[in-house]
Amino acid sequence: MRVLVIGAGVGGLATAAALLADGHEVRVAEAADAARTGGAAVTLWSNGTGVLRDLGVSLDGVGAPIDVLEQWSEDGRRLVRIDVARAARVHGHPHICLPRRRLLERLADALPGGVVEFGRACTGVVQKGETVRAEFADGSSAEADLLVGADGRRSVVRDHLWGRDPGEPSGWGTWQGLGAVPIDLVSSHTGLMIAGRAGSVGLMPAGEGLLQWWFDMPWSPDDPPLAAPLAEIRRRFGHWCAPVPDVLAAVEETDVELFPHYGHRVPRTWGSGRITLAGDSAHSMPPTRAQGANQALEDAWTLAAVLRKAPGDVPAALREYERRRSRKAGIVARHAGREDLNRLPSFVSRLFPDGLTSVYYTRWLKQVSDFL
Ligand SMILES: Cc1cc2nc3c(=O)[nH]c(=O)nc-3n(C[C@H](O)[C@H](O)[C@H](O)COP(=O)(O)OP(=O)(O)OC[C@H]3O[C@@H](n4cnc5c(N)ncnc54)[C@H](O)[C@@H]3O)c2cc1C
Repeated sequence: MRVLVIGAGVGGLATAAALLADGHEVRVAEAADAARTGGAAVTLWSNGTGVLRDLGVSLDGVGAPIDVLEQWSEDGRRLVRIDVARAARVHGHPHICLPRRRLLERLADALPGGVVEFGRACTGVVQKGETVRAEFADGSSAEADLLVGADGRRSVVRDHLWGRDPGEPSGWGTWQGLGAVPIDLVSSHTGLMIAGRAGSVGLMPAGEGLLQWWFDMPWSPDDPPLAAPLAEIRRRFGHWCAPVPDVLAAVEETDVELFPHYGHRVPRTWGSGRITLAGDSAHSMPPTRAQGANQALEDAWTLAAVLRKAPGDVPAALREYERRRSRKAGIVARHAGREDLNRLPSFVSRLFPDGLTSVYYTRWLKQVSDFL
């Protein structure tokens, strides 16, 4: 079957790898002129690393294993310790935090040369009988038997299908970066989340001596852009416990990228006929559960599995894929969207015994995964 994937992010590349492995003829049209190198780091949990292993995409030698997550208060008290290694042992796949560009490189390495066409921005899709045609900004077009819109949060394909962008700002934004920061955490297997009145801070080792750091603060689309975000971050978080001041001393204004948080209810049906969606185009969510890329990988794996089972009726297989994925991605999107609950006051966090949080996390991962 001829498959056209719009977007060469995590979701698009994984979809291409999964469908090529099943013998489909796949092309990926990407708007950017070259592979993206920004976006700091992502954490892949057992569900994401499991899908990658199944697709034959190796993560050997990249990233840092994450075995423990700790939540602290801004004055440095440890509130919760989650032994996430338990979930990795139970599910049989590790958790790895790695630079986003490394993940994209590894996914692209799994594809034959020429599958990804850069500089092709999709402007519209048209369905006629059993053929789907995509139109591009350069005036060209391409036809396929199946089209997957993996074109991210501002998806053109989704807007064509749904008639609007469903994303609503959650009221928060993440200012993040990735770099060499001289603190012990960089060589550990521990992720640290610190919450307080000004917002929250996240620190994750990402391999190669790099630290992913992020600062979550209230954000609204009506806010004027911060002229010097790092100065504002230093003002709000500079007095917090170590290692926050050390991180702030090591980063520069140009290292900071803003990602506003958007989310929406995930509907049961994403597509129509021979068009479907994958990744953020179908289920944008705030990054608070660190599952967006993992859910995009789950989409790729599930789409291939469903098409393998019912190759004859493509539209029916696509609706079955959407039904399955909307249940799981919908749970994550709901949980990720409760931004206030994700920033519990310290007295509430202390009520959860460490052992219980590890068991809860192991079960939660299975609950949100088709692969596991
Ligand atoms: C701050 C932050 C931290 C995060 N941390 C994590 C984490 O730790 N773990 C995790 O699992 N997830 C995390 N996520 C979420 C994760 O990054 C996304 O869910 C994931 O990247 C979605 O992948 P995607 O392929 O659907 O979309 P994208 O990565 O957005 O890729 C879409 C691609 O489509 C291309 N495109 C767009 N429009 C067009 C067009 N018209 N024509 C052709 N191509 C087009 C874009 O250029 C892009 O390459 C985080 C997100 C943020 C914002």
